[in-house]
Amino acid sequence: MILQQIFRLFAGLLLAVLLVATSSCDRPRGEAAPAVAERLAEVVAGTGDPDPSTLAAITRVVEREEPAVRALFRGRPAQRYFIHVHADREHLPASLAANLHEDSPGFAMLGTRQIHVVWGEMQRTGASMRGVVVHEMVHEMLDQFVAPHGRALPRWFHEGLAQTVAGDTYLGAREDELVWRAAAGRLESFESLRGSFPADKPTLQVAYAQSYSFVAWLAREFGMATVLDVASSVDASTSFEIALSWRTKRSSFDLNTAWQQHLLHGSGAPWRVAFDQFFSLLMIGALPVLVLALMRRLAVDRRAAQRLDAAAVAEDEAFSAAASEGTDDEAAGEEHGEERRSAGASEVKGDA
Ligand SMILES: [Zn+2]
Repeated sequence: MILQQIFRLFAGLLLAVLLVATSSCDRPRGEAAPAVAERLAEVVAGTGDPDPSTLAAITRVVEREEPAVRALFRGRPAQRYFIHVHADREHLPASLAANLHEDSPGFAMLGTRQIHVVWGEMQRTGASMRGVVVHEMVHEMLDQFVAPHGRALPRWFHEGLAQTVAGDTYLGAREDELVWRAAAGRLESFESLRGSFPADKPTLQVAYAQSYSFVAWLAREFGMATVLDVASSVDASTSFEIALSWRTKRSSFDLNTAWQQHLLHGSGAPWRVAFDQFFSLLMIGALPVLVLALMRRLAVDRRAAQRLDAAAVAEDEAFSAAASEGTDDEAAGEEHGEERRSAGASEVKGDA
C-alpha cells in the first residue's frame, strides 16, 4: 500500500516535470522568456509623425537600459510612464516647446509620468539616443524613488545624477570649462542652481557641467548608494543639503571646497585644458616668426620688382637711343637725296 502511494507520487512528479519541459519546448526557438519585472516605460508616437523605425529603436534602448536604472533605484519605481517621441522641434506645441532648452533633445515632466524626446534635435546635436533616453529615465525614476518629495530635490542634483548615470553630459557641457572658473572663484553657487537653471546657453552649459562634476565626485567619494540614501531621506523638513552634511559628516562648505580642490588638482581637467590650448598657444608663439617670414618675403618681392622696373627702364632707354640714332641716319639720307633731286632738277632745268 505504501509502495503504491510512493509509486503514484513519483509518477505524478515525473508527469509534472514532463509537462513543464514540454511547455518550455513549445516556446519558439529564440523567443525570450517572460521578463521577471514588467517594463514601466511605454514608447508612444508624439507630434510630427515620427518614423516607426525611430520608435522601434527607442523601444529597444528602453528594453535594454530600463532594468539597470530601475535596479539602481532599488526596484522602488513602479509607476508606468510614457516616452513621447516627437519628430522635430517645429511640430511641438508651444506648451511643450517651452520646456525644451535650446540644443536640448528631451525633457521629463516630473509628476506627470511623461518624458518627451525630440528625434530631430538628437540628430542635429549629435546626442546619443542611449544617453538621452537614460538621462530622462533617471529623472523619472528618481522622482518616483523619493516620492512624494520629488519637488524638494535640488535641480542641480537631478541634472548631475542624470548625467552621471547616463555617462553623457548635456549641451556639450565639459568639466574642463570649470577649471578657470574654479581658479578665479567664478563658479555658480549651488544655491542659485537649486530651483531652476539659467536661461542663457553659456551659463546653462556651466550649470550642467558643474552639476555633473559635483554629483560624479560625490558618487566617487562616498559611493552611489550613499548619494541615493541622502536623496531618499529628503522630506518636508529635511533638505537634500542637510541630509548630505549629516550623512557625510561634512558641512556644505567643506564638501564644496573639497570638490573644487579635486577639480583643480585631481581631475586631470587642467591638463586637458592645457592640452586643448597647446596648439592655440603654439600658433600665438609662432606668430612673430610668421610675421618676420612674411616681411622677408615681401622685401624679396619688392626688390625683384625694383630690378624688373630698372631693367625695363634701361631697355626703354636703349630702345629710345637706338631709335633716335636711326632717325638721325634717315634724316641725313633724306637730306642727301634732296640734294641729289635738286641737282637732278637743275640738270633738267638746265636741259630745258
Ligand atoms: Zn536633465
